[in-house]
Amino acid sequence: MSDGDGELEARLVEQEEFEPTEEFVEQANVSDPGIYDEFEENWPHSWERAAEMLDWFDDYDQVLDDSDEPFYEWFVNGKLNASYNCVDRHVENGDKNRVAIKWEGEHGDTRTYTYQDLYREVNEFAAALRELGVEEDDVVTLYMPMVPELPIAMLACARIGAPHSVVFAGFSADALATRMNSADSRFLVTCDGYYRRGDALDHMEKANEGLDGVDHGVDATVVVDRLGDDGFGHDLKGNQHDWDDLMADHDGDRVDPVERDAEDMLFLMYTSGTTGEPKGVKHTTGGYLAYTSWTSHSVLDLKPEDTYWCSADIGWITGHSYIVYGPLSLGTTTVMYEGTPDYPQRDRLWEIVEKYAVDVFYTAPTAIRAFMKWGSQFPERRDLSSLRLLGTVGEPINPRAWKWYYQHIGDEECPVVDTWWQTETGGMMVTTLPGVGTMKPGSAGPPLPGIDARVVDTNGKEVEAGRAGYITVNKPWPGMLRTLYDNDERFISEYWQEYSDSDEGEWVYFPEDGAKIDDDGYITILGRVDDVLNVSGHRLGTMEIESAIVGVEGVAEAAVVGGDHEVKGEAVYAYVILEDGYEETEEMRGKIIEGVEDAIGPIARPEQVVFTPELPKTRSGKIMRRLLEEIANDEELGDTTTLRNPDIVEDIQTKVRGD
Ligand code: ATP
Ligand code: MG
Repeated sequence: MSDGDGELEARLVEQEEFEPTEEFVEQANVSDPGIYDEFEENWPHSWERAAEMLDWFDDYDQVLDDSDEPFYEWFVNGKLNASYNCVDRHVENGDKNRVAIKWEGEHGDTRTYTYQDLYREVNEFAAALRELGVEEDDVVTLYMPMVPELPIAMLACARIGAPHSVVFAGFSADALATRMNSADSRFLVTCDGYYRRGDALDHMEKANEGLDGVDHGVDATVVVDRLGDDGFGHDLKGNQHDWDDLMADHDGDRVDPVERDAEDMLFLMYTSGTTGEPKGVKHTTGGYLAYTSWTSHSVLDLKPEDTYWCSADIGWITGHSYIVYGPLSLGTTTVMYEGTPDYPQRDRLWEIVEKYAVDVFYTAPTAIRAFMKWGSQFPERRDLSSLRLLGTVGEPINPRAWKWYYQHIGDEECPVVDTWWQTETGGMMVTTLPGVGTMKPGSAGPPLPGIDARVVDTNGKEVEAGRAGYITVNKPWPGMLRTLYDNDERFISEYWQEYSDSDEGEWVYFPEDGAKIDDDGYITILGRVDDVLNVSGHRLGTMEIESAIVGVEGVAEAAVVGGDHEVKGEAVYAYVILEDGYEETEEMRGKIIEGVEDAIGPIARPEQVVFTPELPKTRSGKIMRRLLEEIANDEELGDTTTLRNPDIVEDIQTKVRGD
C-alpha cells in the first residue's frame, strides 16, 4: 500500500494557502509583520540586527562598504572569531552542560557532546593543527563523512583562522585532488571509513589516491579512526597522523581564538557542479556568521533549548550553514546522523526524531519524495509530536510533496518553510517567515526582510505577476559570497555580468534561476536557467513538465531534459521513477503523456518516457540534468565525479538505447 496521492486528504489537495497555528505564532522568534518595512526603511543599518546575534572582540565601524562594487564589505573593521561564537561564549554564559551535538551512527551507536566537551575537543584539535604547521590563512581540506570530528575540525580551523574546504566524502579521489589543487591546500583531515547500509566503506583508499593526484607538497594528513576493527588496515605513512594520538598529545591544551577581521575568509566551498566546473565560493567570518545566525533565528525559529535536525550532509553548504554555524552560534542542540534514511528500515529518520524529540526538522525535496514513495506507514509508526517546524531546501518542491510533508510529518500543525538559496548566498534568501506569513505550497515565498530579490525579464525589467522570468538580487546582503577563490574575473562574469549596468553603478546579482512572482510578491522558483527547452519555438520549463508528470498518480519523481530533434529542435525526454506498487507498463506511459498534455498542452508531449529506479544525483540530491541530456543525445558523458550514485548512469544509457 503506497498510493502517495490517495493518502492526501481531498481537502488538502484543493487548499492553496496555509496559515501557521496560533500556538506557533505565539512562541515564534519573529512574529511581527512590521519586520519587512523595518528592514527596508533602515537598510543597510537594519543588518546590524544580524550582527548583534554575535559577540565581537572589536566593533565594526561601518555596516556596509560598497565603494568597490561588486566587492562588498560588511561590518567593516569588526573583529571576531567563529569558534568563539559557536562554542566559548555558550560555555562562558553558563550553558557548558547543554548538549551541542547529538550524533547517531548508522548502527545506532551514539555520541553526545556538551558545549564544554566541544570546547575541549576544538581546543585540542586546534593545538594539534598548529603543531602540524597550519598557520593563519592556510586552507585545510576536510574530506570526511558525517562523524563528529568533522564539525570539530571545522571549528578548530576557525579558531586558528585557517579557512576550511570541506569535500563531500562521497566524492571521488579525483574530485578531492582537483579541489586541493585549486585551493593550494597542503593539509588534509580525513577518515578511515564509514558505514553505509550496513557495510563498512573504505574511505582511506580514495583519500590516498586523491593525495597522489595533488600537484604540490602536502605537509600533513590526519586520519580519524571511525571503523576500528572493521577497518581496512591502511598503514599511516610518514606525514599521516592518527586523530586520537594527536588529541592525546594535546590533552587539555587551550588555544586562544584568533581575532579575525569580519572580511577574513572563514571557508571555501565548491558548488555542486550541476551546471559545469565547480566554483570555489569564498565566505567570510563576519557577514556569513551573522547571516546564518540571523536566518537560523528568524526562519528556523531556533531556540537554545531546541533539539534541531538538518538531515543534509555537512559536505554541502546546507550542512555548513544549518548544521554547524547557524545552530551552534545560537547555542542549540544540533543532531548529526551518519547513515541513510532507509537503514535498517524506512522509518529510520522518524525513529531518530522520536528518540531525540526533535523540535525542528530541515530536509530536501528529494528525501520527501522518497518518503512519499515508501508510504505513510513508516512515519505513522513513530511519535513525531515533538516537531514544531519543518523546512525544505535544494530544489523546488511540488505542491503534492509539500502537502504530504505537512500532513504526514507535521500532522498539519507545523509550518513548512520552503527555503530558496544557494552555496553563493551563504544562507536563506526567499522563504516565508514561519511566524509571520501565509504559506503557499509550490512557492518559496517572499524575499526575506532586507533582501531585494526580484523577478525580471531578459532586460532586467520586472515581469508582471504570473509571467516567467529570472530571479535577481538587486542589493547586497551580509551572507553573500565575496568572490570565487583566486578568480575575481570569473566571479564577475559568472554572477554580475548579466544584469548589472556598471556605467550607471548598478550592480545586480544573477543566481541563474528562472522564477515567477504572484500578486502577493511570492516567488516560485522554476529551476535553472539552463533548464528551459525550446520545442518547435515554444519555451518550456523542465520544472513545469516535471510537475505535471509527478502529478500523475503512481509517479514518485521525474526529470525532464531536451533531446535534439530534427523537426522540433528539441524534444522532451522524461525519466520517471514510479512509487512502490506501480508497474512500468505502456498504460502508465500513456497516463504520463496524457498528464503532460492535460496540464501544459500537446506541445510538451514527451517524445520518450524512460522508467528508471533512480536518477543520477549530486550529494545535495539534485538531479544532474546535464548528464541525462547527454544520454538523450547519445553524447559522451561529462564529469561524473560529483555524483553520489554513478552506477545508475550506465543502466539508464542502456535503457535509452534499447528503447
Ligand atoms: P552549481 O552551481 O555548481 O551548478 P548547484 O547550483 O546545484 O551547483 P547549490 O548551491 O547547492 O549548487 O544549489 C543551489 C540551487 O539549488 C539554486 O540555485 C536553485 O536552483 C536550487 N534550489 C535551492 N533551494 C531551492 C528551493 N527551495 N526551491 C527551488 N530551487 C532551489
Ligand atoms: Mg548553482
